[in-house]
Amino acid sequence: MKILKFGGTSVENPARIEKVADLIQDDQPKMVVLSAIGGTTDKLEDITHYLYNNNRDAAREITAGLEKKYRKLAEELFRTDEGLHKALGMISSHFNHIRSFFNKSYSTLQQKSILAQGELVSSALFQFFLEERGVGSQLVSALHFMRIDKNEEPDELYIKENLERELAGYPGTNLFITQGYICRNAFGEIDNLKRGGSDYTASLIGSALEAEEVQIWTDVDGFHNNDPRYVENTSVIRHLSFDEAAELAYFGAKILHPASVLPCKLKEIPVRLKNTFNPDDEGTLITTTPPLQEIRAVAAKDNIAVIRIQSNRMLLAYGFIRKVFEVFELYQTPVDVITTSEVAVSVTIDRLEKTESILHDLKKYGTVEVEYNQSIICVVGNLMADEKGIIYKIFDALHEVPVRMISYGGNQYNVTILVHSENKTEALNALSRNLFSHEQ
Ligand code: ASP
Ligand code: MG
Repeated sequence: MKILKFGGTSVENPARIEKVADLIQDDQPKMVVLSAIGGTTDKLEDITHYLYNNNRDAAREITAGLEKKYRKLAEELFRTDEGLHKALGMISSHFNHIRSFFNKSYSTLQQKSILAQGELVSSALFQFFLEERGVGSQLVSALHFMRIDKNEEPDELYIKENLERELAGYPGTNLFITQGYICRNAFGEIDNLKRGGSDYTASLIGSALEAEEVQIWTDVDGFHNNDPRYVENTSVIRHLSFDEAAELAYFGAKILHPASVLPCKLKEIPVRLKNTFNPDDEGTLITTTPPLQEIRAVAAKDNIAVIRIQSNRMLLAYGFIRKVFEVFELYQTPVDVITTSEVAVSVTIDRLEKTESILHDLKKYGTVEVEYNQSIICVVGNLMADEKGIIYKIFDALHEVPVRMISYGGNQYNVTILVHSENKTEALNALSRNLFSHEQ
């Protein structure tokens, strides 16, 4: 069994819905996980915010606009009167459900129920569309098997038992459709796996069914080996390990959140990123052990601040680093890159809200300096494959770029470099030329 998740942009309009239908029509057993149609969950969130603020007119207006959009989509999508009639009836009933909350007092229960309507509508529309085309498929509701416990963690045993029972009810069926994102909580109420949670749904289903592969279909070819916004001639990384993908995800490669594929990582189920608009491209495959290859990618993150604390007494002293880190802990600010010398420590942070308080408290321990507008550049790959050569190539590439910090050896998958943001594009391009030129 393969699990295929299609994101909101993949089912945004009739042409795209048809495209997805074409992509899934072979006899291989599969389960298709659908997000809400692009932009819907944002709108549903707006509705709940307006209800919270007692602005029912605004909530009513957005609801009407959204319903109109769905009715138009159905009119374009369905070819038979019967199909269209069914779809319009389904759409009305979901929007009436949303409206049924308008005269009640606000509760999180109602909020979660409203948020769930996007996936419920997109999956039903898709199922009706397949029926109209004569494709044999079965819609199973995620509300029958997807569940989180009291700590809001997926209840994996429950998911497995209930999903297997659900599928066993349809022997001989090769194609199942379900909703991403939505679930029930420990009290049996409608809930969700947080924004962007459909990838997580796919991964949890993959793990529960011990799937052969989980495919995440989006609108890009996969992870790129450098940032296409700043560097020309980037290429798609064909094969990554889960650890490498996790390193890259921090740097804003928004296509996949690493936590969302944790269930697959634990069961060693391959995850493949595919492009709905370029399905022949093999995409990026993420597995536990990809073939050894030195450098896979370069990525950058902006809006970093570096804080340097210099202690006159650090020489031969202990406890200094602990005190410094306690300050960051107190203000719940994660530290990303760290370098130390005998008498000083430099750390970077990307959450800047508490910087003033942090600086104030750190002054107890020494001289403190801060610099803003820094960028972290990360080189990801299996650096042990050819250690000497790689470090040389990185430093050689950066010989004209002022480097502020270097962190190497934290694990075998990355070298992290801090530069002033005005030097970022130059650094990314220089690294690309030195590290990937052999690939072009
Ligand atoms: N529809 C939800 C969202 O927009 C879940 C998802 O798309 O993954 O956040
Ligand atoms: Mg998404």
